[in-house]
Amino acid sequence: MPAYTAANQRPTIREALQSRTFDVIVIGGGITGAGIALDAASRGLSVALLEKNDFASGTSSKSTKLIHGGLRYLKQLEFGLVREVGQERAIVHRLAPHLVLGEKMLIPVVKGGSLGPLSTSLGLWVYDLLAGVKGDDRRVMLNPKRTLEKEPMLSSTDLLGSGYYAEYRTDDSRLTIELIKTAMQHGAVVLNYTAVEGLIYNEQKQVKGVVCQDEMGPDRWTVQGKIVVNAAGPWVDEIRKQDRSLQGKKLFLSKGVHIVVPQAKLPIQQAAYFDVGDGRMVFAIPRQDITYIGTTDTAYHGDPNRIPIEKEDVAYLLAATNRFFPKAQLAIEDVESGWAGVRPLIYEEGKSASEMSRRDEIFTAPSGLISIAGGKLTGYRKMAQRVVNRVAKTLGNKTACQTAKISLAGGPFLNAADVNLYIQQIMHKLQELNQSATEAPYLVHNYGRQADVILQDLRQGEDFPLLQAEVRFTIAHELATHPLDFLNRRSGRLYFRLPATRPAIPLALDIFQEAFSWSPEQRQRFAHEVSEAIDLITTFPSSTPLPAAR
Ligand code: FAD
Repeated sequence: MPAYTAANQRPTIREALQSRTFDVIVIGGGITGAGIALDAASRGLSVALLEKNDFASGTSSKSTKLIHGGLRYLKQLEFGLVREVGQERAIVHRLAPHLVLGEKMLIPVVKGGSLGPLSTSLGLWVYDLLAGVKGDDRRVMLNPKRTLEKEPMLSSTDLLGSGYYAEYRTDDSRLTIELIKTAMQHGAVVLNYTAVEGLIYNEQKQVKGVVCQDEMGPDRWTVQGKIVVNAAGPWVDEIRKQDRSLQGKKLFLSKGVHIVVPQAKLPIQQAAYFDVGDGRMVFAIPRQDITYIGTTDTAYHGDPNRIPIEKEDVAYLLAATNRFFPKAQLAIEDVESGWAGVRPLIYEEGKSASEMSRRDEIFTAPSGLISIAGGKLTGYRKMAQRVVNRVAKTLGNKTACQTAKISLAGGPFLNAADVNLYIQQIMHKLQELNQSATEAPYLVHNYGRQADVILQDLRQGEDFPLLQAEVRFTIAHELATHPLDFLNRRSGRLYFRLPATRPAIPLALDIFQEAFSWSPEQRQRFAHEVSEAIDLITTFPSSTPLPAAR
C-alpha cells in the first residue's frame, strides 16, 4: 500500500489516474469491482477503479455477510452454482482466515415445516458433496434432545430435530476493502467518491475512457482505458443505458433487510437458519454483543441509493424469530439497528424475487463495454476470473488467474489456529496498554495483522482511545474521507455496536476535521450525514403503498 498521508492522497491518486492509458478501467468499488481489480492487476494489467461513493457502500455492505454455497439454491436445482460457490468458501477462507471464519449452522426441523428430517439430511449431504466438505465439517443430523442442548432458546414444541452443518461468515465491506487494498499493492490505482458520468468513444465507436465527477469537489475529468468494465451492481443498467446498449436481459432489484437486536434479548448460542412459513428461510447470527436476523426478499422499485427498512420488514423478521425462539418475545423496540440492500439480479419472466437465479452473467456491448451483473459475494473471485479472462484475451495477455494464491491485506495467516494465536498476542498488548482484552477478537477479525499498527498509535489518556486510533488508521491507510466510511464500512460499528459508538461520534468527527482541514460548515454537513444514516437504520416507516396502476 503506498504511504499516502491523509492530506495528499486524493490529488496524488487523481494525478496517477490522468497520467496514462490503463489496460482496464473498472466502474464500481463493490466486491465485484474489487475482485476484478485484483485479478487484473495481479496478471500484470494496469488497472484504474472508480467508485462514486465509498467502497462497499452499495450492496457489498448490506448482505447477510455469509460466505456460503446457498443451501436454498438446491431447491431451485442450481447445482452448478452451489458447487462453484460451495467450493469457493474454502478458498476465500484460506486467503483471509482472520476475516472469513468457520461458522456452524443449525437448521431446526419442526412438524408442519417446509423441511422434513429426511429432506434436510439429504439436502445437506448433497450440499457437502458438491462443495467437497470433509471430516468434522460434514453435516450431522441431531435428535430433539441434542438440538436443544446446542440451542436451548429453541422451542421444543413440534421439534423433530435439526441439521448441523458448516458455513463461513465474514464482514462483506471489510472483505471488499481488503481486496481493494490488495489490488493497490499490485499496482491498481483506485479512488472513491468519483462517479463515472459519461463514456468516451473512439472513431470506431469503441469505448476508450470515462468522464468522472469528483463527488468531493466541482471538478470533472477523464480517465483513458483500452477496456471499460461495468461492475456497478444495482446501477449496472444505468451505465448500460449511457452506453445505449441496454437491450435484452435487464436487472431486477430485490430488497433484503436485516435487523440487529442485543445478544441479551436473543441469547442464541450459535447461528441458525430457520423456516419462515412462506417457503423462505432466514438466518439468526450472533456476532459480538448482538444477534442479527435476516433477510427479506421483495421486489424493489425505489432509489437504490437510499433503501428504507420498513415496519413490515421488521415485523416479518420478528414474527419468524419469535415462532422459533418464543422465549425471546422480541418486539420492535428491541431492534437496535439494521440494514437494507438490494440484490442486482438478472430478471426472469414469471419468477418472484426469491425464485430468481443468483447466477452472474457477463454482457459485452457492441462498444466493447463489458458489464457483469448478478452473482454473490461468495463467488466474487470466480466472477472476476471470468471477466478478466475476456479482458486478457482481448489484450493478448496470457497470464493465468493468480488470485487463488494471493493472501488478502491484513494477512497473511496460515490458518484459523494462526489467527487465534495472534488474537492472544493482541490481548496481551491491549492489557499492557490498560485496554480491555475483549476487544482483541474484534480488532483481529476486522483488521488482521494491521491491529498492531492501530495499537502502536493508541494514545493513553484520550477518551475512546482505541476507536480514535482506528479512525486515524483508516484515514491514513484505507482512503476513509467521510466519518461514515469509518463508522460503517471499515469498522461495522454503526451496525454492530451502535449504542456504544454514539457517544464517540463527535471525537471521530474531530479527527476527520483535523485531517481534512474542514471548515465548521463542512463539519456540520458531515455530522448531519452521520445523523441521517443513523436515522435510516433505526427508524422504520410504514411502507408506502404503490400508486394504483393506470
Ligand atoms: P455493489 O456492492 O452494489 O457495488 C457496486 C458499486 O458500484 C457501488 O459501490 C456503487 O456505488 C458503484 N457505482 C454505481 N454506479 C457508479 C458510477 N456511475 N460510477 C462509479 N461507481 C458507481 N452474497 C453472499 O455471498 N452471501 C450472503 O450472505 C449474501 N447475502 C445477501 C443479502 C442481501 C440482503 C443482499 C441484498 C445480497 C446478499 N448477497 C450475498 C449478494 C451480495 O451481497 C451481492 O451479490 C454483492 O454484494 C454485489 O456486489 P457488487 O459489487 O456487484 O455490487
